[in-house]
Amino acid sequence: MQERALVVGSGIAGMAAAIGLRQAGWTPVIVERAPERRRGGYFVGLMPEGRQAAVDLGVDGHLHTRNPPDGGKAWSLTRRGDREPGVGFLHQPGDPAAVLRGDIEAALWQGISGDGTAGGRVDVRFATGPVAIDDTGGEVQVLLEDAGTGAQYCEGFDLVVGADGLRSGVRRMVFGPHEDYMTTWNAMICAFQLQEQVPSFAAADSIISARAGRAVWVFGLADRAPTVLLTYRTDDVAGQFTGSPIQRLRTVFSGMDDPAVRHALDAVEQAPEFLFDSVHQVRMPRWSNGRVVLLGDAAWCPNLYSGMGATSALLGGAELGRALRENPDELEAALAAWESRLRPFIRKHQRIARLKQQMFVPSSRPAEALRSVVLRLAIKARNRRRAKARSGTSLEIEPA
Ligand SMILES: Cc1cc2nc3c(=O)[nH]c(=O)nc-3n(C[C@H](O)[C@H](O)[C@H](O)COP(=O)(O)OP(=O)(O)OC[C@H]3O[C@@H](n4cnc5c(N)ncnc54)[C@H](O)[C@@H]3O)c2cc1C
Repeated sequence: MQERALVVGSGIAGMAAAIGLRQAGWTPVIVERAPERRRGGYFVGLMPEGRQAAVDLGVDGHLHTRNPPDGGKAWSLTRRGDREPGVGFLHQPGDPAAVLRGDIEAALWQGISGDGTAGGRVDVRFATGPVAIDDTGGEVQVLLEDAGTGAQYCEGFDLVVGADGLRSGVRRMVFGPHEDYMTTWNAMICAFQLQEQVPSFAAADSIISARAGRAVWVFGLADRAPTVLLTYRTDDVAGQFTGSPIQRLRTVFSGMDDPAVRHALDAVEQAPEFLFDSVHQVRMPRWSNGRVVLLGDAAWCPNLYSGMGATSALLGGAELGRALRENPDELEAALAAWESRLRPFIRKHQRIARLKQQMFVPSSRPAEALRSVVLRLAIKARNRRRAKARSGTSLEIEPA
């Protein structure tokens, strides 16, 4: 008989895990707290490891990417509000694929809904979540609740995969309270989709306005209006959740009077939805306990500054499938192999995230100045590379 796994959460990690499990001959069942599949979301840059994982999961052909030609133009706004050439997220090494979070989820959904893939449709139960998890050793008994009716029922599984995000309920129930694993980064984000580009910029331009402690990033896309990230640092994270987020953003960004900030603050008031949240990293000594394993943000959230959360969630699902295939009938060995293969990659990106945070939102005026110098040098190096490529051998330098 096929082994059954419960996957909690139908985000990137959950669906990637479900496909990986199915590739290993398991029967996954997904439960998702939301009443239906979510769409849209914010800009995500998918790195080479994530794109390879999409290939391994067989969903790369379904992935809609939105890169403007040559990564598009990126502009940096000065303190006076003037624009100068900048370095956008898409210009970093690795040539990230520009997508919305929902584009990755849509591709994975194709993978689990059985359209053209082997293994048929995965059982997905919306408006459902676990309320108790009991690992008896032989199997895991899970008490599930239907959020619509309140009905509860118990079901046994050979494995439970907690892919239920940063504030994972599976982690809390099986591993312990959030405070034991979520590190606080004293920073906030607000992410949403623009209806229109910032006035006077080209449709696919990216715009960055980064000051000490606060920054606005506009991510230009090829085939739709950009998405926005407002991010700022604060010593009072709890206080940020009191009152209206929009009013709070207006207060935090007051005095930063450039076109990107003005447009973003006006647009967030009209946005049908936006994400307003604090920034954390999840650090755990182990990602599995018996027959319960965590994956994605639930296990290792590297956070948005790392730019690796979606990539590592895809990779985690694909690698879980691989480890189970390579260790059939040996769950403990498979989970140990999976974790030891993945952990160096996650550790590296969790560490780099601190440095990347300085690029997203510098911590002080000196950090802001240093950031500008580093980026100017990067632009000069990029121009030199381009000139060299154009001329074949001769070296030409464009003004930055
Ligand atoms: C603004 C922003 C920008 C980002 N940019 C990038 C980027 O450029 N590159 C990159 O790689 N990553 C990026 N990330 C990170 C990336 O989006 C996340 O790491 C990734 O989406 C996490 O996926 P996940 O499936 O682990 O968790 P989630 O997306 O949080 O999914 C968890 C799912 O579980 C469900 N759930 C929760 N609780 C329960 C429950 N009790 N029962 C059932 N279901 C439950 C939720 O409804 C949800 O569907 C960014 C993140 C943000 C916020």
